[in-house]
Amino acid sequence: MKIEILKQAVMDSRDGITISDNCIEDNPLIFVNPAFERMTGYSFEEVTNINCRYLQKEDQEQPEIEVIHKAIRAGEYCLVTLRNYRKDGTMFWNELSISPIHNENGFVTNFLGIQKDVTSRMLIQQQLRDEHQTLEEMKAHFEQLSIKDGLTGIYNRRFFNTQFEIQCKIACRNSSSLTLAMIDVDHFKSFNDIYGHQAGDEALIRVADSLNKFFQRGSDFAARYGGEEFVILSSCMTKEQSVRQVEALCQLVRDLKIPHSASSTGYLTISVGFSVHTFGPLNAYNELLALADKSLYIAKYRGRNQFFNL
Ligand code: GH3
Ligand code: MG
Ligand code: MG
Repeated sequence: MKIEILKQAVMDSRDGITISDNCIEDNPLIFVNPAFERMTGYSFEEVTNINCRYLQKEDQEQPEIEVIHKAIRAGEYCLVTLRNYRKDGTMFWNELSISPIHNENGFVTNFLGIQKDVTSRMLIQQQLRDEHQTLEEMKAHFEQLSIKDGLTGIYNRRFFNTQFEIQCKIACRNSSSLTLAMIDVDHFKSFNDIYGHQAGDEALIRVADSLNKFFQRGSDFAARYGGEEFVILSSCMTKEQSVRQVEALCQLVRDLKIPHSASSTGYLTISVGFSVHTFGPLNAYNELLALADKSLYIAKYRGRNQFFNL
């Protein structure tokens, strides 16, 4: 092949082509083609005889730069994509390969650099990554919304309903017990009237938080049933264990010491009605709810700040 064709190919290439001198310290460029000049805005005279690190300007902390240095030290080929800066300061993504050129003794005398401006491809990839991340965030958000209560962040009634049905079936099949506790905050209407709705919301959040932290054993969980009412579902507990648990629960809310001037104790309290069922083949789903509800009514009737069990 004629040397002239080889020369013209390098001059006409749409990709930037550079040659550096590996025999001189700091590996300066000794040749750049016109495509390199167009891509970077630097002229042949400006960039030859110096190392080309000016292409990264102050953006030197790129791991790809170390990959290039390693390849040069080892006299090996490498391919990287890194941020480069034109003479006017604008950034472009440079897909750069460097290949060692050997003399007849196998010594690496030069490196051939070939560079492509891949900015538009990188921007599209980045945009796709951003969109994917936004979609993932939205998905997680909607998943949370559908099972969590907006105010307190604990499970909502919808989640409770589906779980309750599942837990009933499991308990039925295993003949294991299920405890359902209905909780209602005492004198909450007057709490709102005295301290304001905002303080009411904050009190509900604190109560919900305590319940939630207390019921984290396996399949046990607390949910907001509505307004100032909560439910707790626990499996595999005897009546005595359930009593101790509900007792502890009432104490937990007392210990929050949320002042309530209309309460006989001076603090916010709860009433709890609960029912424990060891499942046989009966349809106990509605029965358990009804018994817990009735128990709650009795706890209220008996003076609040207490629990009752039917
Ligand atoms: P009792 O001891 O019999 O339960 O009395 P109570 O005042 O708690 O009962 P009632 O059902 O009459 O009132 C419940 C109140 O709870 C009424 C409502 O304003 C309040 N409430 C319900 N949901 C919320 C809420 O999300 N935020 C606030 N701040 N208040 C709520
Ligand atoms: Mg109520
Ligand atoms: Mg109430």
